[in-house]
Amino acid sequence: MDALLVVNAGSSSLKFQIFGVLDAGLELRVKGQIGGIGTRPRLQAKAPDGSVLVDRNFEPDVVSDLPTAIAAARDWLLTLEGFTLRAVGHRVVHGGPDYAEPVLIDAAVLERLASYQDLAPLHQPYNLAPIRQAMAINPDVPQVACFDTAFHHGHPEEVNCYAMPRRFYDEGVRRYGFHGLSYEYISQRLRDVAPQIAGGRFVVAHLGSGASMCALRGGHSVETTMGFTALDGLPMGTRPGQLDPGVVLYLILQRGMSAQAVSDLLYHEAGLKGLSGVSNDMRDLLGSDDPHAKLAIDHFVYRCGLNAGMLAAALGGIDAFVFTAGVGENSAPIRARIADTIAWLGAELDPAANEIGEMLISTPKSRVALYVLPTDEELMIARHTLALLKSRSA
Ligand code: ADP
Repeated sequence: MDALLVVNAGSSSLKFQIFGVLDAGLELRVKGQIGGIGTRPRLQAKAPDGSVLVDRNFEPDVVSDLPTAIAAARDWLLTLEGFTLRAVGHRVVHGGPDYAEPVLIDAAVLERLASYQDLAPLHQPYNLAPIRQAMAINPDVPQVACFDTAFHHGHPEEVNCYAMPRRFYDEGVRRYGFHGLSYEYISQRLRDVAPQIAGGRFVVAHLGSGASMCALRGGHSVETTMGFTALDGLPMGTRPGQLDPGVVLYLILQRGMSAQAVSDLLYHEAGLKGLSGVSNDMRDLLGSDDPHAKLAIDHFVYRCGLNAGMLAAALGGIDAFVFTAGVGENSAPIRARIADTIAWLGAELDPAANEIGEMLISTPKSRVALYVLPTDEELMIARHTLALLKSRSA
């Protein structure tokens, strides 16, 4: 069977999926990952029916970094029979100012993507490592880069600029926005399940360990809460979200923190984790009776409401609001509280539908339809990869 491999590589995990390319479309066949790279490496993969295809632990010095993890995953993938690999689709966080679409990767593209490393130092180098390895080992298999930024690429300059001297914009200091593959998937999914909404104005809340919101009109992004980096916007598991830059100056100039220490703080020690002192995981916070856990949840919900209002303003009103990603898909209490914050816009929750996680969780008379739609960024990458392959052979 013709197959596509989708790769999503980060600093501590390498996720992969294999999709069969059938006449009827793409079909997930294998979903796996190597997690705990360098600490407790573990390769796991399952078939779509949940059956375990592999579950293997490695010594930390054997799978100590991303290249060794890629090699371990590749060794296992090569044992699979019945697949003819047609292309590899890679998640690449940053498409910089240039890429509005997925792109077929060659040496020149790879060099340009590497030049964006300064814009996303915690993601981009990890995203590019498997591309380099795959190009070296399988130069004949097309590699496609799909960007988290691309979906927001059409924002006009008054939307994506900062009020900074022009030269910074020119060198790439812009509001790019992220989670674009998730928003694009949800926008396509809405076309299937609620076509009357898909062409209108709606907000999607991607609430996972990273969290952002996007305002869409007619299926296109018009505004989003993340900016130059994935630090901006909503509070997240370990990132603070919107923060007065004066706080950063204070930490460096008054507290004498190094730039690296501030970076570590903002990416890994802030957000729900920092504010609660309990956990970065919403489940732990919901289950805790520590008042700081309650504060972290209250802050998260408050900021979600505030940002939803901002995005509704960007759209001049909304017809629908969609919850997705880990918290959005699974937490009825958080959805209920966020729905409350947009009651003033006309949203009316159906508590029973919310509790059992229906797709539509608003009442029939709600002026803003509320949806819960699971996201699937990997399927979006596979779709883009297939479309690019087809356009090449057309
Ligand atoms: P990412 O892909 O960004 O790592 P996910 O979209 O998988 O994140 O979301 C992970 C987060 O979802 C977890 O950190 C957890 O806080 C949250 N989550 C998952 N299930 C639940 C649940 N039942 N209730 C509340 N939060 C949940």
